[in-house]
Amino acid sequence: MPSWQHITYSNEIKDGHFGKSVAVGGWAQEVRNLGGISFLQLRDRFGVIQITSLKKRDPELFRQMTTIQRESVLLITGTVKESGEAKAGFEVIPETVAVLSEAMTPLPLGVVDKVGADLDTRLNNRFMDLRKPETRAIFQIRAKALEGIRGYLTSEGFVEVTTPKIVAAGAEGGATLFPIKYFDKSAYLAQSPQLYKQNLMGTGLDRIFEIAPAYRAEASDTVRHIAEFTSLDIELAFIESSEDVMAVAEGIAYNGLRHVKEAASEQLDMLGVEIPIPETPFPRMTYSEAIDLLKANGMKVEHGDDLGTEGEKLLGDVIMRERGCELYFITDFPTSLKRGTFYAKRHDDDPERTGYFDLDYMGQEIVSGGQREHRYDVLVEQMKENSMDLDSFEFYLKAFRFGMPPHGGFGFGIERYVQKMLHLPNIREAVLYPRDRLRLIP
Ligand code: ATP
Repeated sequence: MPSWQHITYSNEIKDGHFGKSVAVGGWAQEVRNLGGISFLQLRDRFGVIQITSLKKRDPELFRQMTTIQRESVLLITGTVKESGEAKAGFEVIPETVAVLSEAMTPLPLGVVDKVGADLDTRLNNRFMDLRKPETRAIFQIRAKALEGIRGYLTSEGFVEVTTPKIVAAGAEGGATLFPIKYFDKSAYLAQSPQLYKQNLMGTGLDRIFEIAPAYRAEASDTVRHIAEFTSLDIELAFIESSEDVMAVAEGIAYNGLRHVKEAASEQLDMLGVEIPIPETPFPRMTYSEAIDLLKANGMKVEHGDDLGTEGEKLLGDVIMRERGCELYFITDFPTSLKRGTFYAKRHDDDPERTGYFDLDYMGQEIVSGGQREHRYDVLVEQMKENSMDLDSFEFYLKAFRFGMPPHGGFGFGIERYVQKMLHLPNIREAVLYPRDRLRLIP
């Protein structure tokens, strides 16, 4: 029997293979018995190979081929033959077939069924759902987006780091913290690497990024929140303003898209998605301008209000209609809206405004960040204003007492980016095994 090292994938079989023998392996997607001839569609990671058996050629092999359960794993040896009828232009005439793992019936989820299953059923049977090439395509595209992003950040001198996910204090407010038992202490799952990445700005590792899970106990069920998401976090020092930080957010969003378009065109075609490469610089509007635009477009909203899901969505529609842009910045958020963000730097000439920005993608926030407050005394004041227990943050504050350069950064939600890029209705489709209030298994 041939070994797995010697199997030939469907996309490797070319004209030169005609008349030659190969070993192929994969899942039995479909078996059709027409009496004297049978067709088995064998699916591997790249495509489908038609295995054609003739009863008169080998009745025992024919019997074996026609009694295989769908989705069983097979290893088949045979001869490649040119074929006008087979979709791929060739078929394999089998000589031996080994059933390496027989699938039970009924299947928990169809792989090629025309009727689509609902998302819950798909997620409950994710291993079956991922056998569909179009589901796998999402994760191949996601991997390419990350590849493009890593390439860009590395070329810009950023160093990839890993910070703890078991932490003693949260940075984003208590409401969404997951408490855990940590030996005889209580601890939390990290909501963001905020405190650590700022800590690193005082070390000389002054351009860093991290791509890691972040945990938020989001109580409401929305199509854009999950309890465990992948956060791309950036922090860079020696900046002059939030503009320096926005340039990096723009570079990431742009280069991720460009790389996906170049390196995952096959998967994009499979999903029927076109990716327009955005022009840079992305449009920028201040929070005040955004509010005025929303008012002009009929939304009941006042200066000082949160844009909210509805506002973000309407803004996305208006900007697409008027400027044809999918990605845009909203800048200079009022301090009142970012007051909970104790580390946000406020404008020196107008403390009621921060340099904080969001990057929105088709009406959904995917990035939030800006310049941080690096002056110890001001930072302490802002923390007191937020009624924070300074002792719990001593490890964080200490770094600000011994030489901390001006710095800034942001959190970039990878799943929201992929969701928007591929027009997925629910963020859960961009996660292999999503976690939310109701979902812990698989
Ligand atoms: P929102 O207001 O949309 O809930 P946020 O203001 O809580 O987001 P930040 O804390 O600023 O988000 O996090 C930065 C980025 O991380 C967000 O722009 C988003 O892309 C991503 N993100 C935050 N929370 C979640 C979540 N629960 N699920 C998925 N992505 C998230």
